[in-house]
Amino acid sequence: MDEKYIKSKGMLVKDILKYNPNSDSEFISKAYDYSYSAHKGQLRQSGKPYFNHCLNTAIILQELRMDDFTISAGLLHDVVEDTEYTKEDIEENFGSEIAHIVDGVTKIGGLSFEKKEVRQAESFRKMLLSIARDIRVIIIKLADRLNNMRTLGYLDVAKKARIANETLDIYAPLAHRFGLARIKWELEDLAFKNLIPKEYKKLARSIDEKRGERENYLEDFKRPLKKELERFEIEAEVVGRAKHMYSIYNKIVVRDVTIDKIYDLMAIRIIVEKLEQCYFVLGIVHTLFKPIQERFKDFIATPKLNGYQSIHTTVIGPGGKRVEIQIRTTKMHETSEIGIAAHWKYKEKKQKDKDFDSHTEWLKNIIEWQKDASDPTEFMEYLKFDLFQDEVFVFTPKGDLHQLPRGATALDFAFQVHSEVGLHCIGAKAGSRIVPLAYELVSGDYIEIITSHNQHPNPDWLKILKTSKAKSRVKRWLRESQKEHSIKLGEEILLRELKRQRFKQHDNILQTLPDKLRVKNLDELYEAIGTGNISVKTVLTHLIPEADLNVEKKAESTFSKFLKRVRKTRGIKVQGMDNMAINFGKCCHPVPGDEIIGFITKGQGVSIHRATCSNATSYIQNPERLVDVEWDVEEGKEFSVGIQILGEDRKNFLRDVVEATSRADTNILNVSLKAEDGFVNNTLILEVKNLNHLTKILKNVQGVNGVILAKRIDRKL
Ligand code: MN
Repeated sequence: MDEKYIKSKGMLVKDILKYNPNSDSEFISKAYDYSYSAHKGQLRQSGKPYFNHCLNTAIILQELRMDDFTISAGLLHDVVEDTEYTKEDIEENFGSEIAHIVDGVTKIGGLSFEKKEVRQAESFRKMLLSIARDIRVIIIKLADRLNNMRTLGYLDVAKKARIANETLDIYAPLAHRFGLARIKWELEDLAFKNLIPKEYKKLARSIDEKRGERENYLEDFKRPLKKELERFEIEAEVVGRAKHMYSIYNKIVVRDVTIDKIYDLMAIRIIVEKLEQCYFVLGIVHTLFKPIQERFKDFIATPKLNGYQSIHTTVIGPGGKRVEIQIRTTKMHETSEIGIAAHWKYKEKKQKDKDFDSHTEWLKNIIEWQKDASDPTEFMEYLKFDLFQDEVFVFTPKGDLHQLPRGATALDFAFQVHSEVGLHCIGAKAGSRIVPLAYELVSGDYIEIITSHNQHPNPDWLKILKTSKAKSRVKRWLRESQKEHSIKLGEEILLRELKRQRFKQHDNILQTLPDKLRVKNLDELYEAIGTGNISVKTVLTHLIPEADLNVEKKAESTFSKFLKRVRKTRGIKVQGMDNMAINFGKCCHPVPGDEIIGFITKGQGVSIHRATCSNATSYIQNPERLVDVEWDVEEGKEFSVGIQILGEDRKNFLRDVVEATSRADTNILNVSLKAEDGFVNNTLILEVKNLNHLTKILKNVQGVNGVILAKRIDRKL
């Protein structure tokens, strides 16, 4: 090995030991040597040894104060891709953890993000899966990309442009998402510099020209501030803050202004030790300088999605100039600069803490969502939405601050508050205004979500929702409810048919079905029937041979029908006799348990009414025709009865009502339905055993969402 490389190895090891005294220098050294010899003889486009790239990637990781594993994997990151060594070789020499990380980085390297949307989506999906397995993969990949961007100058123009664009499209937003702000800014500035060098130089020059002036101004600005901090004995670091070229350029382009108008060039940062000092310092700042109300943001109380915490305020400095100020603690500052990488800092335990989970929740949501995204371009659209958008800040009526990606709707907000709130959201109020679900949130809105327990998601919501988390929740709900309904429907269809075929609903008969029809279980069978994938007839042929089916039918059409008719006219004893011809009043549908009266009619025998029946009153006026009647019911006999149900006109209302009645084990003979003015009026004719049974049915129906009234019908239908 070259003298030079022995020296740089010593420096790397020493620099790591500075922040991590427990570093395993031998391990680092071994990875260094391995990578060096693996890449031996390979040259970069610049003509320099390839290994330089590996070393510089590792140095970037060392500057992020990463642990030994991450730095070693950084040294080895191109070994599998660019040399004859395999993942297995790495595993044998450095263990499976490093081998997996290197493998992840290699896979990302092989993905193509060129414009073809579908391919890009697929590449993205694979990349996110790799990252999800071990977040260190993206930290190394970003270090790798940063070094490549730093050495981009050696490539031809087309290649430069491709890599710079990919950096802006993919890697800078990812760096932002994982909170690696320091890397994000440098990547963007380097891409900017390589893509439009003339603009870059022009901007750099004009920033430079004003540098002296700006620095003088900030010195003047800081003086009273420092004095006050001293007076209150607050140890604080007050530094001028360089704005990044690419963000200045974007502001100039977006706002179409000259550089003089970009006021936030004037920016300082105050770093303190303790959280409460942040607010104290804020107080000092606002006492000294007049704040601009709408530019104040407290990201300490409400961290950004990537974990960023800081207080932002803009004040009017001397001469009426605006100065942007950030106030934060040392720890917040670190997180703001290196984000998720802070979790692999040498001294941190490997355990994943709460912070870590909140940083990666975004990733988990995306991965969850991609499982549901059938169309890759759709996935891409939402991924980009989550990844690239700025945020809007809105408040709950209580004043809790929420942040969502720009473009998010009131419905997205409802889901962010709570998924149960989202699932039942019927509308929202922005301030005092009623707004639709699709209302696009504006920063500063106070949003109140209106819910109704009758509300449920529908497929249109997927068009309204912008955040992947909410979309994935709605998709899941739709899938589950669809399934549940299909199962219920299928079960009802099958059991009704079995009954019609005079099949006793023995469980053991049903239990044989899944095997015969090659489905996993009964629910799956019901679902298949409910969705129409298996017909009831098919199911029946597995229970009864075709011929028998017909025989059954014939049997029913003769004897059983007769039997039914006879049964309908029995169940009453008239003055002690049980063979009188009787009929039941069609006005009041008496059922066993009702108090009844009997009335002799011409040619129709005895007519039975409820004692409370309005028609009965007129009969009572002819007492000579009244006869004593009493119930005499055989087991299994059923009586028809009418019920009226008034409810809100909503989707699936009737279905829910039918479900509620069938839960009480009843047959529905007839259904009629009228809807007007947002209400529905249902009339059901049911078969019930007795009054208790009817009461139970009514109780079930009253429990259905949206039912206003459910009662038995007294009058003629
Ligand atoms: Mn590389």
